[in-house]
Amino acid sequence: MKNIIYPMHCAPRCGAKTRSGHPCKSPAIHGKARCRMHGGKSTGRPSTPSSKFRKAHLEDRRKFRAMLKQLKGLTDALKRN
Ligand SMILES: [Zn+2]
Repeated sequence: MKNIIYPMHCAPRCGAKTRSGHPCKSPAIHGKARCRMHGGKSTGRPSTPSSKFRKAHLEDRRKFRAMLKQLKGLTDALKRN
């Protein structure tokens, strides 16, 4: 039987060291040096929360601070009496 060489077999291999100590040899993700099991798919740090959620968060903080200020004013008023 003839050994057929498929293009996918010529793809760059993952060089990650497996637990057995040998290189992984799985096909690497296109443009990456590692296979999908060894971080080839990783895009680095997780994306930041969308600006929409960040805005909502900041708005909540602003409201909370305003509420605290009101409470402080109330307690100060109570202390005076
Ligand atoms: Zn790998």
